[in-house]
Amino acid sequence: MSKYKVFEDEIAHLKANQTYREIPIVQSPNEAIITINHREMINLSSNNYLGFANHPRLKQAAKAAIDTYGVGAGAVKTIAGHMQLHQQLEEELAKFKQEEAVMLFQSGFNCNAGVISAITDAEDLILSDQLNHASIIDGVRLSRAQKKVYRHNDMDHLKELLEEHRHNHRQCLIITDGVFSMDGDLARLPEIVALAQTYNALVYVDDAHGSGVLGQSGRGTVDHFNLSGQVDFTIGTLSKALGVVGGYVATKQIVKDYLSFKARPLLFSTMLPPAVAASLLEALTMLQESTAYTDKLWENANYFKAQAQALGFDIGHSETPITPIFVYDEAKTIAFSKALLDDGVFISPIVFPTVPKGQARLRVMISAVHEKEHLDKALTMLVKHAQALNIIKS
Ligand SMILES: *Cc1c(COP(=O)(O)O)cnc(C)c1O
Repeated sequence: MSKYKVFEDEIAHLKANQTYREIPIVQSPNEAIITINHREMINLSSNNYLGFANHPRLKQAAKAAIDTYGVGAGAVKTIAGHMQLHQQLEEELAKFKQEEAVMLFQSGFNCNAGVISAITDAEDLILSDQLNHASIIDGVRLSRAQKKVYRHNDMDHLKELLEEHRHNHRQCLIITDGVFSMDGDLARLPEIVALAQTYNALVYVDDAHGSGVLGQSGRGTVDHFNLSGQVDFTIGTLSKALGVVGGYVATKQIVKDYLSFKARPLLFSTMLPPAVAASLLEALTMLQESTAYTDKLWENANYFKAQAQALGFDIGHSETPITPIFVYDEAKTIAFSKALLDDGVFISPIVFPTVPKGQARLRVMISAVHEKEHLDKALTMLVKHAQALNIIKS
């Protein structure tokens, strides 16, 4: 028997279910038009909301930092990897998020895994939205806290759980995505903050898809709801709208001090390269200089969503540029995406286990770098193949 039987069986199973996929190889920068497996296509599958991933100003800042500081941080943050540029980035991010302090991490995933596990333990209770991101789920597992999942955005259910369980625990942490990444809807933050006050709970918002998208100058979902200072932990990513890589938590100074001793990714994994920090400083400057980037993003998103709805597509409850196109059936969703790809439109299918069975959809990611002609061509192709597959009526 093969030593690798477990892996062979799983891959065979994926292939039998037609859910096996190859990882596409990208031969161009991440732009509105992208080259994948040597074919050019309209890119509606990236988190590069503002076009910063290939922006000349960010590239220039990165090049200059490489000349001054080299390519690697050379150490974990807490030993010798916290360079002047990282310090500056933390200070600028704290101002941008209007919070006391910011702690940088290597990624948003890393930040959730590191922060949740550091701030809670077995005596504590975590109340987590059913649709929270995988990195939150992993952070909660690492924490060994008691976890209860509340139905998506169901504030009555959250209140019930607080009422029933809060008093049995030292701390209680309510965790929610700010923007839900597969549906594009928002957390009901004002109600969550009010409940947290009533029940003496801490609020933790993962705003990976809100940073650079919502709020004034892209300050995020907390700013969108005018709740700055009232959320205890706001997680952001530097890998989506901000265009580069990295994650951070915006919080109180005392929490930051605590994390520098307790968050394991800061103690055991090398800090971000200095060029990353430099390009992100440039990105923050650009966001605060002009709302042109976020304005264009929303103009494109509003246009696309209005057209898609008028054409008869079911886009669910999206309130952001993340636009799901619900198909429900898994195999049909994959066939739809393949047909679009053959016509030069790249929209990734989202199926089980990323979303529950029977909730399959395409997920259209709109960005500021799309031109109206890209969106129109995508809409034409969506209609053509949706009619052929009986997803909308002809
Ligand atoms: C993408 C995402 C992350 C991970 O961020 P990275 O910086 O890509 O690691 C975390 N949380 C949510 C909600 C996300 O959408």
